[in-house]
Amino acid sequence: MGTKFLLHHLGEQTKSIHAGESPDPTTHASSPNLVMSTTFTVGADTGFSVEGMDENDTWVYTRWGNPTVHQLEEKLAALEGAETAVTFASGMSAITALLFHLLKSGDHAVVSDVAYAALSEITNEMIPELGIKISKVDTSDIDAIKNALQSETKLLYIETPCNPLLRLTDIAEVANLAHSVGAKLAVDSTFATPVATKPLELGADFVVHSLTKYLGGHGDALGGVILGYKKDLTSLRKKTAIRLGGSLSPFNAWLILRGIATFPIRMRVHEENALKIAAYLESHPKVKRVIYPGLASHPQYELAKRQMKNFSGIITFQVENGILESRRLADRLSIIHYAVSLGHHRSLIFYLNSKDLLQTSFKFSTDKQLESWNTFAGEGLFRLSVGLEDADDLIADLEQALAIF
Ligand SMILES: *Cc1c(COP(=O)(O)O)cnc(C)c1O
Repeated sequence: MGTKFLLHHLGEQTKSIHAGESPDPTTHASSPNLVMSTTFTVGADTGFSVEGMDENDTWVYTRWGNPTVHQLEEKLAALEGAETAVTFASGMSAITALLFHLLKSGDHAVVSDVAYAALSEITNEMIPELGIKISKVDTSDIDAIKNALQSETKLLYIETPCNPLLRLTDIAEVANLAHSVGAKLAVDSTFATPVATKPLELGADFVVHSLTKYLGGHGDALGGVILGYKKDLTSLRKKTAIRLGGSLSPFNAWLILRGIATFPIRMRVHEENALKIAAYLESHPKVKRVIYPGLASHPQYELAKRQMKNFSGIITFQVENGILESRRLADRLSIIHYAVSLGHHRSLIFYLNSKDLLQTSFKFSTDKQLESWNTFAGEGLFRLSVGLEDADDLIADLEQALAIF
C-alpha cells in the first residue's frame, strides 16, 4: 500500500486487506499480482549465488524470492508486528528450516513434550541423530523447563495452545527464562493466530505459523512462515530457506493472500461459534470433559484471558468409549467433515487415540508428563475445529450424531 499511512496505526482488518499490496504499476490492477514465473530477466552483471544477494535486488529466481510471495510476507509481518517474514511451502518446512538454522551438533534444545506430531517425531529421532540434544518437557511447568536447561541450550521451542491438548504456555515467562541462559525462544502460534497473541511482543525471538490453517483459512493451500527480527531472518533466508528450498509456490501465496483478507472477521466467528459449541458439549451427557481456552473450566483460564485476545476455534473433548464413538461420528456427521487439519472455514473433527499417539509421537520420560496427558486427553480425544457455518447447524449435526446409542 502507499506510504501515505503508517502501517502500525491501522487496525488488524485494514492491515489484512491492504498491507503488502499495492496496485500493479503497469496495469493498475487493484488485486495482487499473481506472478507465475520461476525466473526473471536480469542484467548481465547479476550474481549467481545467494551469498551476495541483498534486500534491494531485483527478482532473479522464484526460490530466492517472488513478487507475489513478497506481498504475502509483508502482509504477515504487518499482522504479527514483526520486522520481517520468510514464507515456506508448509508449516513443517518452516519449522525444519528454523531448527537447521539455529542448531548444530553439540547444541541442546528444550521442546514442548506435546506439540504438532511431525515436529515431535523429527525431534524424537532425526534431529538427535545429527548430534543435537533434545529435552522434551511440559512447557506449562516452568520448573520442568528450568531443570532441563543446560549450558549448551540454544533454543526453547513451544507451542501454545499446543496441539492437540490445548494446554497453554506462558510466553513472557518462558522468554525471560530462555534469555537468561542466552537461548532463543521460538513459538508455534498456529492455534492462537496473530489476532489472539503476539509472541514477539511478549519476548519471543521467532514465531512460526502453519499458513495452511487459520491464516489461509480455506483448506486449499499449504504454507508456512517464520516471523521475527531482520538480524536473524536475513541470514535464515539465505542459509536455510533458499538453499534447502522449501519455497512457497506463488499460486499458494496468492490463495493465502486472498484468504487473509477476511482473517480477523473469520477469527471473530470461529471464536463465537466455538464458545457456543463448547458450552453445548459441556452439557452433553455423553461428553466427559471439554477443553477450550475460552471456558472457565480450562485449567489455565486466567492465563488464556491474559495471553489470548481471541480463544480461537479449536475444542477438544473426551467421551466414554471414544474409538466406538469416532466410528459413529465418521459415519453420521453430515456437515462436519471427519478429517484432519484445522482452521478452515469448514468444520473438521478427528479422533486422536492416546495409545497410538503415545507410541508414535509423544514418548514421555516422566510419570508427571503422562499424568498431565491423561487429565487432558484420557484414552483419547476428539479435536473439533469449529468452522464458520451457523453454530446452530453445527450443534444439530453433533446432536444427531452423538445421540444414537
Ligand atoms: C498443521 C500444523 C503444523 C504443520 O503445518 P503444515 O502446513 O501441515 O506443514 C505445525 N504446527 C501446528 C500447530 C499445526 O497445527
